[in-house]
Amino acid sequence: MKQPDYTSAIAQALNIATDGTEFGDKLNHIIRTTAETLGGGASLIMLDSTRTRLIHSSSFRLPKYYLQKGPLDREKSLDELNSNRTVVINDIRSDSRIQFRELAERALITAIAGVPVRIKGRAIGSLRIYYKASRTFSSADITFIEQIARIISLLFLSEIEPAPPSQNHPVAGALHHVQAPDFAHPSEAEFAGLLDFYNIEWVYEPRSFVLEKAGNRVTEMFSPDFYLPALDLYIELTTLKQSLITYKNRKIRRLRELYPEIKITLLNKNNYDRLLAKYGSGPLGQSRAHGIRQVLYTQEQIKGRVDELAREISADYANKCPVLLGVQRGFICFMADLIRQISVPMDMDFMALSHYTGKPGKGVKITKDTDLELEGRHVLLVEDIVDTGMTLSYILNHLKGRHPSSLEVCTLLDRQARRLVDVDIRYIGFNIPDEFVVGYGLDYQEEYRNLPFIGVPVILSDTSPLVKETQ
Ligand code: 5GP
Ligand code: MG
Repeated sequence: MKQPDYTSAIAQALNIATDGTEFGDKLNHIIRTTAETLGGGASLIMLDSTRTRLIHSSSFRLPKYYLQKGPLDREKSLDELNSNRTVVINDIRSDSRIQFRELAERALITAIAGVPVRIKGRAIGSLRIYYKASRTFSSADITFIEQIARIISLLFLSEIEPAPPSQNHPVAGALHHVQAPDFAHPSEAEFAGLLDFYNIEWVYEPRSFVLEKAGNRVTEMFSPDFYLPALDLYIELTTLKQSLITYKNRKIRRLRELYPEIKITLLNKNNYDRLLAKYGSGPLGQSRAHGIRQVLYTQEQIKGRVDELAREISADYANKCPVLLGVQRGFICFMADLIRQISVPMDMDFMALSHYTGKPGKGVKITKDTDLELEGRHVLLVEDIVDTGMTLSYILNHLKGRHPSSLEVCTLLDRQARRLVDVDIRYIGFNIPDEFVVGYGLDYQEEYRNLPFIGVPVILSDTSPLVKETQ
């Protein structure tokens, strides 16, 4: 066989690496050049921030179902990452290391080479070459693949800005660029933006699950919209149409039956849009609330429950002089009523966080930290509402760094239905349904905070049937 022109392929890769192309396009281009030069398929898989799973980031000439087989388990995969050196398998049929053997066989992959992509000696991912026929990789082939892997390392090095402290892996932030997904719906792009804001790594449509088969033929598949590696969680955003929601629910039920080990959460887009609207983002960003359509908790109900919580807290924190720490600004009514019923000595302070604005590149920040020394203190965080749990988990992580003696959470409202990040909550006022609420300190675009009760606002949008009724 004629030796491919490795020199000009390297030159081409270097040109791409240093010209003005976007990062994701550079990678795709280099992967393609590599595959074409070698006459096989190629993919770049990156370790996620937990460093336990591998995610396909860019690939060429690999069938879609092979790519969508889901994140690979690092431990069960080729061991180029563990050994930190090149691994070559000339015939996978006689090798036990390959995960998803069946899929690999369906894709007719027989030979594989895996070369670690390293930054400062530490593997961040792997460049893999695939052949349909069994094939012996020559030393010139391997040298070429290793050189390309090094160019890719340099590319990542130039892309990655100094990682913020909460990111435990340099590539976490860069993964998104690599993915550059074509979102099927604007709400998905918006959701990705929200995850970025909270520094939560995500992958778009990483895996298709087989739900139904007729003989060997797959007749029904399901690809959840997002995968969050750090939480090992899949997320499906539902659309507005009730008929589709029913259909999706059925699929998710089936998925849970067939794959009980998979964690998946359904996010209702309708409510999600309302939450974004609070920050002036999303499709409802410019809409306003037009009154209240339902009172969820009256003034008396709230008072009754707040008094109960205060009694519990007073008993649990006797002789502990707790610090009650509020999170701006929704906590205001709750905190004011709560502390007046607490019968033991205590301190109070508050914190503020930056809001999600829908603009890329801005992460959550603490705009006002507590002025009290928290080391050795018993801290009770007071929240208005816990929804996805992203805000709370961010704050808790921050506060843990201040070394309090104990750290607990008290929230007036808890909306379990939309929880994404698991958080322990010690005191809960009310478990609320999947509805956006206002009043008693909670606002909708800065309105309705001063309602003495908690209610569900009427939010009008172009697609809402209420618009038609009122016209
Ligand atoms: P999470 O990070 O848990 O998704 O969201 C928490 C924050 O979102 C809350 O502190 C609150 O500011 C806002 N939020 C979530 N749900 C609601 C709601 O139903 N009404 C209002 N007014 N704000 C909400
Ligand atoms: Mg809040």
